[in-house]
Amino acid sequence: MEFDTIAAISTPMGEGAIAIVRLSGEKAIHISDKLFRGVGGKRLVDVHSHTIHYGHLVDPKTDIVAEEVMVSVMKGPKTFTKEDVIEINCHGGLVSVNRVLQLVLNNGARLADPGEFTKRAFLNGRIDLSQAEAVMDLIRAKTDRAMNVALGQMEGRLSRLIQKLRQEILETLAHVEVNIDYPEYDDVEEMTHHLLIDKARYVKAEIEKVLQTSQQGKILREGLATVIVGRPNVGKSSLLNSLVHENKAIVTDIPGTTRDVIEEYVNVRGVPLKLLDTAGIRETEDIVERIGVEKSRQVLKDADLILLVLNHSDELTIEDENIFAAVEGMDVIVIINKMDLPQKINMERVEQLAKGHKIIRTSLLEDRGVDELEEAIAALFFAGSIEAGDMTYVSNSRHIALLNQALNSIEDAIDGVESGTPIDIVQIDFTRTWELLGEIIGQSVHESLIDQLFSQFCLGK
Ligand code: GDP
Ligand code: ZN
Repeated sequence: MEFDTIAAISTPMGEGAIAIVRLSGEKAIHISDKLFRGVGGKRLVDVHSHTIHYGHLVDPKTDIVAEEVMVSVMKGPKTFTKEDVIEINCHGGLVSVNRVLQLVLNNGARLADPGEFTKRAFLNGRIDLSQAEAVMDLIRAKTDRAMNVALGQMEGRLSRLIQKLRQEILETLAHVEVNIDYPEYDDVEEMTHHLLIDKARYVKAEIEKVLQTSQQGKILREGLATVIVGRPNVGKSSLLNSLVHENKAIVTDIPGTTRDVIEEYVNVRGVPLKLLDTAGIRETEDIVERIGVEKSRQVLKDADLILLVLNHSDELTIEDENIFAAVEGMDVIVIINKMDLPQKINMERVEQLAKGHKIIRTSLLEDRGVDELEEAIAALFFAGSIEAGDMTYVSNSRHIALLNQALNSIEDAIDGVESGTPIDIVQIDFTRTWELLGEIIGQSVHESLIDQLFSQFCLGK
């Protein structure tokens, strides 16, 4: 494939110590060479691949030195994009890095679109689609754990699993073909049924296993949607503030302006919380009173986690009871706030209402109990303590949708075999599963299954 040469600043904008302008494409080396003045007249077109060179960038029109630089030369295909790649390291700071970018743009490179380097890596066959998507996720990863998920995926964890499953399906189909071709064996039909059902059950179990991580994966990616509820004056705003102030707020590139509620991300022990900010809290302040239990249930239904705040020094009211009713069946942590004040709340009744949900006592005024709360949030999320390191997580909604479809078709195959459907119909369900899994890693669905089967046979013979 032939592409023009693209360039972009590949380090974050700002006042870093160094900045990098990256070029990729056929003319990357030629363009850089035109601008580069190395020690002793060294030319970039002459150097070995994967080497780095000190020198200056000069504007060829004026011969004025623009920058002191280190230039890395990496010749394709052993590069991220499989094309020739140049990385120009210059001083950090907007002026200097922009000057370098401008120079390469004036001399034959085109400004890259967002994600275009990754797209090229995909188009040139360097990475598959799920890996390309992982690179995007990585850029947006909001916590270390989310970063690990994205890294795992980028390293091909999901791809490897998908490839393994597809291979298994293919081999099974090949075996079935062989069985059909050699009907002289008496028990061929029974063998075929056994083979198909065993393999289908195995594939089904593997898909289910990955899908089980999807909820966590999605949360890691998007944040645990958290709503703080309670009647007026119990300490909701105080809770929000202490969660935000004690934890590093996560910078998000999602602008709040287009949404009704402002989202605030905080990292609580590796769990990204997407807290509904003051707007949301004002909404929910007397939500139950205003619109009734049924309606408020709807408003709350998108939340992954409810922090229900009660006042230790006040008696429970019907309003409190209504709030419990509104969050029935959800993940709830009950917070008894204002522990520094004398008790008026009936704790026996609270325990009844809490129905086994964790109860945490806090004094937000005296800054007590917030650690325990954070621990409870992390424990709730990592129940069963699955570590990001040793699982194949799936968090991308496109992947999840395809996995669900693949699960349906392999279940159809199982039903088919069990109810004695003709083998060629069952084969269709297997093939469909194979195709759906292939879409996850960007394998063309048009790629001929027949060819694949044929190569299987040749290998075996
Ligand atoms: P909201 O209406 O539920 O958002 O409650 P706020 O967070 O605005 O708090 C209401 C009042 O209670 C404020 O004056 C807070 O300073 C106070 N408050 C919050 N937490 C505590 C606490 O733990 N102890 C005491 N004594 N006062 C608190
Ligand atoms: Zn408030």
